[in-house]
Parts: sequence; C-alpha cells; structure tokens
Amino acid sequence: MSKLIQAIRGMNDILPDETPKWQFVEKQFRRLMAAYGYNEIRFPVVEKTELFKRSIGEVTDIVEKEMYTFEDRNGDSLTLRPEGTAACVRACMQHGLLHNQTQRLWYLGPMFRHERPQKGRYRQFFQLGVEAFGFPGPDVDAEMIMMTARLWKQLGIADSVRLELNSLGSSESRQAYRDILVAYLQEHYEQLDADSVRRLESNPLRILDSKNPEMQALIEAAPKLNAHLDEASAEHFATLCSLLDAAGISYQVNPRLVRGLDYYSKTVFEWVTDKLGAQGTICAGGRFDGLVQQLGGRATTAMGFAMGMERLVSLIDDAQIRQQDYAPQVYFLALGDAAQSRAFLLAEQCRDSLPDLRLLLNCGGGSMKSQMKKADKSGARFALILAEDELAKDEITIKDLTGELEQQTIAQSELNAFLETKEPLINSVRPEPVKG
Ligand code: ATP
Ligand code: MG
Repeated sequence: MSKLIQAIRGMNDILPDETPKWQFVEKQFRRLMAAYGYNEIRFPVVEKTELFKRSIGEVTDIVEKEMYTFEDRNGDSLTLRPEGTAACVRACMQHGLLHNQTQRLWYLGPMFRHERPQKGRYRQFFQLGVEAFGFPGPDVDAEMIMMTARLWKQLGIADSVRLELNSLGSSESRQAYRDILVAYLQEHYEQLDADSVRRLESNPLRILDSKNPEMQALIEAAPKLNAHLDEASAEHFATLCSLLDAAGISYQVNPRLVRGLDYYSKTVFEWVTDKLGAQGTICAGGRFDGLVQQLGGRATTAMGFAMGMERLVSLIDDAQIRQQDYAPQVYFLALGDAAQSRAFLLAEQCRDSLPDLRLLLNCGGGSMKSQMKKADKSGARFALILAEDELAKDEITIKDLTGELEQQTIAQSELNAFLETKEPLINSVRPEPVKG
C-alpha cells in the first residue's frame, strides 16, 4: 500500500467532534454583528503580494518571514492572505465603499502565515475580523471594545480574559519617540538580539513587540511611548478611557503594546488570557487612520480588530455546547426493502411539515437489534419503527428511547401530527449518547 498523504504541517482538520464549538462561536459572532449593525464583507483568499507589503509593512514578522508567496502561472507574485484588513481596505476602495460614506463591516475566514506551528499558532488559522471606516473616534473605538466584551459574555469566557490598551499617537509623535527609543537601545546595544539589531535602523518600535524572553527586561525599562503622545492623541485616548470607565469595562494601560503590524496609530488594544500559555492574545486591533491613504485612497479614518478562532474555541468550556443541539432527535428504523422505500416517503413528509426536525433515517439495512443499537447511540429521543407488520397495516411504531412514554403504534397518516405534538419532548435534553 502506498503511504497515506497527510495534511500540511500547521494546517488543521476540524473534525465533526469539534465543529459544534466552531459553529457556536460563529453563531454568537454573527448575532453580535447584527446587534451592532455591522455588515458582512467577503474577499478573496489570495491577493497581489504588493498589497500586503504596502500595508502591513516591509519590516514586520509577517512580511519578512511569514507570508505564503508564490508565482502565478503568468508570473505575478501572489500571496495567501496573512490577515484581513489589507484586503478589506482594498475591496472597499475598489468598489467605492469609502466614498462620502461610513462603513461598519465584518469578515470571517482562513488566514495563512508560515510560523512555527505550536498550540494556538498555526499556518492556516481562522480570524473573525471587524473594521469601521469614516469614524474618527474615539466613540467607535469604545463601541468595538464594548462589543468584544459582550462577546466574551455570550461565549461564557468573560472571566478568563482581560483588556490591555495603549495609544501609539500620531505618526509625527511616533517619529519623535522613535529617536528617543533608538538612543536608549543604542546605549544597551550589547543586550539586543539579532532581530532587534536589524530593526534598530529600519523599525525600532517593532523591537518593543519582541517575543524573546531575554529581551523583556530591556523592553520593560525602555522609555514609554505614551509619555510622548501628541495632544490630539492624548485627548483621544483619555476620552476612550472615560467611555470605557462609564461602561464599566476594566482595562490595563500597557505602554509597551505596539502590535505586530505597521499600519496602526492612536488606539491599540488586545484581549489576553492566561489560560492558553504563550499564545495568550485572543483578540487584537486598533486604529489605522493612515492605511487607506497609504494604499492610494483618500484619507479615511479607520478602526478594527481581529480574533483568533482557534484560541477562542479552545477557551470555551465544553459544557457551553449542548452536543444534543446537533444530535438527531428522531431515528427511523426500516426493516426490509419495501419498508425502506416507504420509510423514505414518510421521512420526507416529516421533513416537509417539520423542517427543523433532525431526523436520521437508517441506511444500510441491518437487523432490528443492530438498527436499534444505532438509534440508541445516535442520541435521538424517539425511534420510529417500520417493519413488515406496520407496513402491512399502514402503521408505524414509536418508541421513546428514554423509556418515559409507553411504546405505541399509530396510523402512518398520524405521524406528522404525533411529532408536532411531541415537539417539546423531542427538544428536551437527553443524556449524552454513548460514544463508540
Ligand atoms: P501574535 O502576537 O500571537 O503573533 P499577531 O500580533 O501576529 O499575534 P494579529 O495579526 O493581530 O496577531 O492577529 C489577530 C489575532 O489572530 C491574534 O490575536 C491571534 O488570536 C490570532 N492569530 C494570529 N496569528 C495566529 C496564528 N498563527 N495561529 C492562530 N491564531 C493566530
Ligand atoms: Mg504573529
């Protein structure tokens, strides 16, 4: 036998056991977006490489070493999207969505980064992202933070996460701070790692984002960015803080929070957890007022964030997810070919009148005993049995798999009505079905 082909390292299969959790997160997210009046946008998984270079920044981890870049058959350089913001801005500009109007948007989908795979860090991972255009803030900054806080409650993880907040100021104030930071880092040149030495010239702020534990003491003692804010940014930040205070959202100002992408200015924030080890950031974002212009558009204020699906999913308690919501409610047994053919007919009729009913029709034949075993394992509340006897008399037998109700045999024409009246029972939670 030839060797089995495996998935690419760092790109995960999400198996049926786990998809209910993913669906739960997606459902809560969609619900949240509707509640705040945000609209979905979808854009391609592949874009021109140039788009990411120009937006994320040449001297960032993502562009320097993480992008999946390849040549198309006609020689164009293309890249699998490493994040959503750049493509979202590109799509909005291309279709005139930023012209004399505001936008509140969300997206969801896979992103690709060639990172070292480990728990919470993958090469294909999913992000839920939100962007708002044309709002100078800080009102929309506060709105976004409030909506994330609400999502943690909906997902039952509010106790596991905390908010970190910072302001990067305007690009001018950052420039002034940059000189101060470089002077400090040069004083401690011998403590810099290779990445930092390289970035000292090209992008010194990036050094503050270093994940190298040996760099942390040096970074900790560095001059603080927020002590060098311009007046407008300082005021913006103060108003944001007071809006959050008024909303009862607690946060910690982290002066070293700079984010891993170059396009941010003013507000940046991260939601972090201690429960996932080193990969503790579940949601990150900020203001990127300069990006639209940088990509060739008219100056447009913007604010957004993205959440890592895998990290969110692994924070959610299994108890939050009722597997029963996905299990079949009715299992239909059919004994013999003639019964099977009638069972199809009846099952379709049930689905016509109860479109939300989860009905599993036995396929592949089998004895009464083996079909009944499958019915039990499925987690269904009721088994419908159609054997020779029932078939001859146009009847059907209904067995309550919890044993609570008596088994009964009714006319087939009564089946829909029976299931309709038993709807509350069907929906009641059954103990977890036996696995195996
Ligand atoms: P990190 O500091 O963890 O590398 P980042 O700053 O690169 O994150 P962003 O580009 O801001 O992250 O992406 C937003 C969110 O997407 C992160 O907070 C995280 O939850 C998730 N994320 C980013 N990269 C990965 C990855 N390789 N695998 C899984 N999730 C990821
Ligand atoms: Mg990263």
